[in-house]
Amino acid sequence: MVSTGTTTGSPIFDYAPAPESRAIVDIKPSYGLFIDGEFVDGHGHSFKTINPATEETLAEVAEADEADVDRAVKAARRAFRGWSRMPGKERAKYLYRIARIIQERSRELAVLESIDNGKPIKESRDVDVPIMAAHFFYHAGWADKLEYAGLGPNPQPLGVAAQVIPWNFPLLMLAWKIAPALACGNTVVLKPAETTPLTALLFAEICQQADLPPGVVNFVTGAGDTGQTLVSHPDVDKVAFTGSTAVGKAIARSIAGTDKKATLELGGKAANIVFDDAPIDQAIEGIVSGIFFNQGHVCCAGSRLLLQESIAEEAMAKLKRRMSTLRVGDPLDKNTDIGAINSAAQLARIRALAEIGEDEGAERWSPPCELPSSGYWFPPTVFTGVSQAHRIAREEIFGPVLSVLTFRTPAEAVEKANNTPYGLSAGVWTDKGSRILFMADKLRAGVVWANTFNKFDPASPFGGYKESGYGREGGRQGLAGYLKAGA
Ligand code: NAD
Repeated sequence: MVSTGTTTGSPIFDYAPAPESRAIVDIKPSYGLFIDGEFVDGHGHSFKTINPATEETLAEVAEADEADVDRAVKAARRAFRGWSRMPGKERAKYLYRIARIIQERSRELAVLESIDNGKPIKESRDVDVPIMAAHFFYHAGWADKLEYAGLGPNPQPLGVAAQVIPWNFPLLMLAWKIAPALACGNTVVLKPAETTPLTALLFAEICQQADLPPGVVNFVTGAGDTGQTLVSHPDVDKVAFTGSTAVGKAIARSIAGTDKKATLELGGKAANIVFDDAPIDQAIEGIVSGIFFNQGHVCCAGSRLLLQESIAEEAMAKLKRRMSTLRVGDPLDKNTDIGAINSAAQLARIRALAEIGEDEGAERWSPPCELPSSGYWFPPTVFTGVSQAHRIAREEIFGPVLSVLTFRTPAEAVEKANNTPYGLSAGVWTDKGSRILFMADKLRAGVVWANTFNKFDPASPFGGYKESGYGREGGRQGLAGYLKAGA
């Protein structure tokens, strides 16, 4: 049993446990694939999905083999004929219906997401699921207005989209993929990550409940092999991938020379830059949410903190004090700030990189923190004395680990911030509007937040520079990834 939230450091005051009930979710002992509007058996080796906070097995999940993937792509191809010809305003009705069902079943979705992923319920309830619904509402609005997307008077859907998503935001990434694809008249086969398949399968039930025509949305579960089979299937027209840069590169290689269109949303190592005129208390909150939100399992996490030298000491003292109040523990407790690490493999990777940080000479600090005895946990951690050459400054840790560097001038901040193979996001904290504009212009990052961090909106395009990928998701720009320009 996981303890109900442990305040790190000396508690200022204690909270009574506030557990969200899991009675609302009905987890079946086993799950099949979702093809052509129905749940069907898979023909690969089934695998288990576990609760990372307790290591309890939640369910046995089917693995899709090559023939299963082929069936799913064929179902999507058949459905494409009707779905792509349906008037946009009719497709919109399905998307609106899905959005409303998401809202109606939001508690169930949030609880299941927290159980399968390990993220705190306050995040799945207040961030993931509301933004997921917003994506369907937003794209429902586009479905009958595609001629205003800037792609000509009569833009056409691409066809069948093969979509592969990671485990850090299972529902949100699903929405980022499925909502624009459907709004533009495409059909999809989506593979959720192997450690978090359950909410996609619950979403399959929502598609049934919304009477979505069979084959418009299909789910194939499994690991990397299933993903590879899906993206290399000869009859898919579009590949949309979110995940690691290494796998993104492998996918780009595998589809090179075909006429498949691709968008790749990959890793990041964002700089969160705090100038000496920044409102410091707000900046501390932004630093904390930038790196500890979702256990730091965030592609655009502010994992490199750049502090102007003159305020570095004060900011570090305040940051450590704030980190001491973070509560680590049961994801279903409404007071929890930091939940479980998603898998044993991810925990091992975070531990290994943190050890490398120490070996390379950076100074490691975590507040005193009692971690639950079972499950996968890592305390909020900060490294100071980090140089640009350190691996913890260069590699994506994808955990609650912050690397702190300092700078003296705006030019030095820009140089350090851009000194990375990635370019997904960045944050700037300053009182001066002109400096915000100067920094936003110079930073090579797809998103630059000013005096805030980790804010998402379906109308705002998201995507990377350099090894963070190509293509945009969200906004008008995101539609371009699912449409052919029409004459
Ligand atoms: P991953 O690349 O290992 O896996 C992502 C997905 O790809 C999973 O569903 C996996 O089964 C599948 N996959 C693995 N090998 C494959 C292959 N050869 N062909 C096709 N599919 C394959 O990444 P992860 O560990 O699940 O997720 C973490 C990574 O995702 C981080 O690097 C993070 O930055 C990135 N991410 C990026 C964004 C973004 O929008 N840029 C968002 C979330 C996560």
